[in-house]
Amino acid sequence: MRAQSDKDTPDLGRIVQGARRLSRPYRVDNGRKFRLQDVDPGDTGGLGAEDKPRAREALASGREALAELQDMLYAQDRWAVLLVFQAMDAAGKDGAIKHVMSGVNPQGCQVFSFKAPTSEELDHDYLWRCTKSLPERGRIGIFNRSYYEEVLVVKVHPEFLAAQKLPPKLVGKKVWDHRYQDIRALERYLSRNGVLIRKFFLNVSRDEQKRRFLERIDEPEKNWKFSAGDVKERGHWDAYMDAYQTMIRETSTPESPWYVVPADNKWYTRAVVSAAIVDAMASLGLRYPKVDDAKLAELTAARKVLLSEKR
Ligand code: ATP
Ligand code: MG
Repeated sequence: MRAQSDKDTPDLGRIVQGARRLSRPYRVDNGRKFRLQDVDPGDTGGLGAEDKPRAREALASGREALAELQDMLYAQDRWAVLLVFQAMDAAGKDGAIKHVMSGVNPQGCQVFSFKAPTSEELDHDYLWRCTKSLPERGRIGIFNRSYYEEVLVVKVHPEFLAAQKLPPKLVGKKVWDHRYQDIRALERYLSRNGVLIRKFFLNVSRDEQKRRFLERIDEPEKNWKFSAGDVKERGHWDAYMDAYQTMIRETSTPESPWYVVPADNKWYTRAVVSAAIVDAMASLGLRYPKVDDAKLAELTAARKVLLSEKR
């Protein structure tokens, strides 16, 4: 028999406790006082290189826990989970998504990547392409970039806003305030409809990004990841950091928190992201649905039929 909930599974209970301890320091529920300068992209929670195997173990047990939680999420079919990933280039979004989710059943999980909008997307309001990709109940949806690009790249490059075909009289000085407000409202609405939202900003330092870009240039098997445009974008570093900080201040809420995850050490980033997801899903009190008496009678009857088969 499978366990009914984390409380009944000592292993899962222990993993959830560890996950909470590891991830909570990076969670921002209320961003009012948040400052990027107070957090360190190189933070490893006091763990050193010698602790890497332990972090990998934590990631492996997190992966198992996640597989179990996802199975219950799917069976219960009430909640949906939306995981949003935002970061500067080469911060490790793709790798984090790959490692953290590698144990889950692909049928219950979908990843969407949002790039520069197409002409069809520009013909709609900016939330459109994301809202039509939201996860169904019972599923985990991952946004690799998201509607948050609308207060990041679009804020750093006003020409992108100009390309959005908005009626000019709606684009005033308050346009960014309106966007934060609308995003908060969307997330509140989704939370009230059973969509659990967790948002991850992978916080890489400017120096580490440079090192990773050089690696992409120098190592032939990484050449494909390199794009000259990324180096140009790096020139706007301070404007991006400013936009990230304001975004976190404006859109962190208890029901839809940001995790500002140190991203200069990939092994640590992945362990924290995995832990945050385990913590979040465990908070839902997921259970396998209990069958009622009619269903039990049906199972007993089917069992009898199967056992009485002649061949
Ligand atoms: P990644 O950089 O995430 O690994 P990628 O390199 O495969 O993915 P790109 O082709 O670089 O993908 O597409 C992502 C680019 O699209 C980013 O530079 C991002 O800022 C940009 N983008 C995303 N949404 C928008 C938007 N709404 N308006 C303008 N640009 C956007
Ligand atoms: Mg890119």
